[in-house]
Order: sequence, then C-alpha cells, then structure tokens
Amino acid sequence: MSETLRSDVLISGGGLVGQALALALAHHGLSVRIVDPADPVATIAPGFDGRASAIASATWQMFEVLGIAGRLAGHGCPIRAIKVGDGAPDSGRGGELDFVTADSDPPLGTMVENRQLRLALAAALADAPLARLSMPATVVSRAIDAHGVTLTLADGTRLAAPLLVVAEGRRSPTRDATGFSIANWSYHHHAMIGAVAHEKPHGKVAHEIFYPSGPFALLPLVDDEQGRHRSAFVWTVSERDGPGFAKLGERGFVAELQKRAGGVLGAMELVAPRMTYPLGFHHSASIVADRIALVGDAAHGIHPIAGQGLNLGLRDVAALTEVLVEGARLGLDLGDAALLARYQRWRGLDNMMVSLATDGLTRLFGIPGRTAAAIRRTGLGAVQHMPMLKRFFMDEARGEAGDLPRLLAGTEI
Ligand SMILES: Cc1cc2nc3c(=O)[nH]c(=O)nc-3n(C[C@H](O)[C@H](O)[C@H](O)COP(=O)(O)OP(=O)(O)OC[C@H]3O[C@@H](n4cnc5c(N)ncnc54)[C@H](O)[C@@H]3O)c2cc1C
Repeated sequence: MSETLRSDVLISGGGLVGQALALALAHHGLSVRIVDPADPVATIAPGFDGRASAIASATWQMFEVLGIAGRLAGHGCPIRAIKVGDGAPDSGRGGELDFVTADSDPPLGTMVENRQLRLALAAALADAPLARLSMPATVVSRAIDAHGVTLTLADGTRLAAPLLVVAEGRRSPTRDATGFSIANWSYHHHAMIGAVAHEKPHGKVAHEIFYPSGPFALLPLVDDEQGRHRSAFVWTVSERDGPGFAKLGERGFVAELQKRAGGVLGAMELVAPRMTYPLGFHHSASIVADRIALVGDAAHGIHPIAGQGLNLGLRDVAALTEVLVEGARLGLDLGDAALLARYQRWRGLDNMMVSLATDGLTRLFGIPGRTAAAIRRTGLGAVQHMPMLKRFFMDEARGEAGDLPRLLAGTEI
C-alpha cells in the first residue's frame, strides 16, 4: 500500500504565487507541500519565462521578511518615476502625467526579471525544511470530506492536508472542476514582451504610452554585466495584428519598437527572446469553497497595463498566510469555514476593485478618435495638477493602500 504524506497545507500549483505561499507558510512554522506537473528545472531555465515584473514596494517588504529580497540583490531596479502619455496620433507623445518619488521615499516598485524571481524562490524553498515539492507530479484523483483533502498522484502516493490551496494559474483545472463560477472575457489583444539594451540610460523611469492599438510600456531593468542599459517592454497589439508583428525579422521588429518608444531611450537592440501572451480578464466570484482557497491567477487575471497581476496574487499570499498562521496558533482546523471566510472578506473586495479599475483603464485608453484622445488628455492634465490624487495613485502603485496584511508592512506574523 502506498504511503500517505501529511502536511498542514497542500498547494496545487508551484508558479510564483504558489511558491511564495509555500515559503511564507513554512517561514511561520506550517508544513506545506506543492504539487505541480511542471519540471522545476525547466521552470528556471533561461527562456522559460521572459517576463519581468514590477514588484510593488509593499510586496518587496514581504520579500524582505521571507528572505527573498536578499537573494535578489543586484537584480532589482527601483522605479523612481512613471511617465504616462496618450500616444493617439494627434496628442503629442508621452509625459502628460508623471509620478515622481523623492530619493528619500520608497520607490514606486522594483523591476525584476521573472527568471530571477523563480531562481530566488527556488533557492529559498530549498532552504525551508517545512516546504516540500512533489514536482513533476500529476494528480489522478481528489477526495474532499469533513476531515480534509486527499490527492492521489499517478505513482500512487497520497497527499493529505486539512486545506488545499489552488495556485494553478489562469486555466486552473481544479478550480474549474470544483464548481467556482468565473466571469471572463478576452481583450482580443496580445502582449509582446521582451528586453532591449539601449543607448541612453533610463534614469529609473518607467514609460506607459497609450496607443489606440493598445498600451506600450518600457520598464527599467538593471544594467547587464557589460554595463549595457536595459529595459523590458510590454507591447500590446490587437489579435489581428499579432501574427504580423510576430513574423517580423529582428531588425524590422526593433525599428517598430523604437518608433513606439519615440526615441526616449535611443537606439535599441533585442537582448532576450520575444514572447507573446494572449490577454484576457477573469475573476472568480468566490475565492473559497469547502476546504479550498484560490490564490493568484487561479482567482483573478487582469490586463498587464498597470503591472499589478502578480502583486495581487502576492497580496493573496500575505493575507492567507496571516489567516492560517493565526488559526493554527488558536489550534483551529486550517480548513475551517470561518477561517476561509475571513480570507474571502479580506481579499475579495481589493481583488475586485483592482481588477475593475484595470479593466476600465484598458477600455478608456482603447477608445479611438480625436474626441476620446482630447478627453483623456484633459483627464491626465487634471490629475497632473492634483497632488492628493497623485499621492493616491502612487500609494496604489506601491501597494500600500487598504487593510494591509502584516507581511506587506514588513513584519512577521
Ligand atoms: C505580459 C505580461 C506581463 C505581466 N507583467 C506583470 C507585472 O509587471 N507585474 C505584476 O504584478 N504582474 C504582471 N503580470 C501578471 C503575472 O505574470 C501573473 O499574475 C503571475 O505570473 C501569476 O502567477 P501564478 O503563480 O498565480 O500563476 P502561474 O504563473 O500561471 O503558475 C501556475 C502554476 O500552476 C501549475 N499548474 C497548472 N495546472 C496544474 C494542475 N492541474 N495541477 C497542479 N499544478 C498546475 C503550472 O505548471 C504553474 O507552475 C504580467 C502578465 C503578463 C501576461
């Protein structure tokens, strides 16, 4: 008979969010096991995930507590200013609204390549004796009853815990099989992402330019070993135009990139393979069910326009960790419905507000025509002259708004 491996929490999905949760729980004394069909060596190989993420300052504070920030030393580029522009043909380009931080203030975020995040998390997990990985492993059956959750793997091993956290990303099969209802729609946009080396220094400034065909972002990265200045780009194009751009040779692609960037960084050269992601919105009405909690993209997926998707998932991690660690200290069953309801109340509203705001922004800047562009310019100009509103947006970008879990304030639970 195969063995049953027990832990305090089972996590299905070992992406950035699932791994961060495992680390946060193990850091606070809970035993945890991740199960994922992906090969962990493949997920840290160059070229597996070419994205870079803007990590909000509050999320970075959690990284400090969990010992991830130290492992990212030299890989994070602070964002000191964000320049937002309406790139409609008649609007002039860029800089209509800017958010600038004083050097004495925390940055608006820190840009880190996802591969570096994956390497740092993998190394931290390897040093966490309470966190175990079943990777690659496939679940062939799942049983949930009043006593807990049991997953049976293809090799016959059984994994048991009072709670199953689902961190399987946007197409989560467990979420779909366990009756969560999801609202979703496609933006009919593709995001082309990659990294460029460029002539002029970026000055730790992020640029977000809204073209009618979709937003275009340049995000500062640390210089490479040869001292070349680098930035990540997220270039959104319509589904219709995506295949055409994908077929462009490197020289043609870079010429188009430079045109979108408007010369702000000078001559550019691709330094990482470009990748394309289809963009859509999805949102789960509830993020808990019997002995199940959803985190990260399994619970919500938003447009990358504001670089908030991963941050939202990591806020789920911080809140769920606090709820479970406090529950364990009181001797509660970690699958207890009241504990899960606290997580739902804490994260439900914030997830919904950020998701809807991002969706609204995407639609607002996607409206074609001169009138719409003129209204947007007036709006950007108005915010530029309202310090209180600018402060509000900057706190949102830093992830410092709302009822913050302790980890996001940089303290242990
Ligand atoms: C172009 C682009 C740019 C972005 N930029 C930013 C940014 O700047 N800042 C930001 O905050 N966010 C950004 N995001 C969003 C961010 O990348 C995602 O929110 C984040 O990666 C989600 O992580 P996750 O761990 O929830 O899901 P995923 O990364 O999708 O991981 C899911 C994991 O679950 C596993 N899995 C799948 N099926 C199963 C199963 N049946 N059983 C077990 N495991 C399973 C997978 O193998 C995978 O390891 C961006 C997104 C895109 C598309």
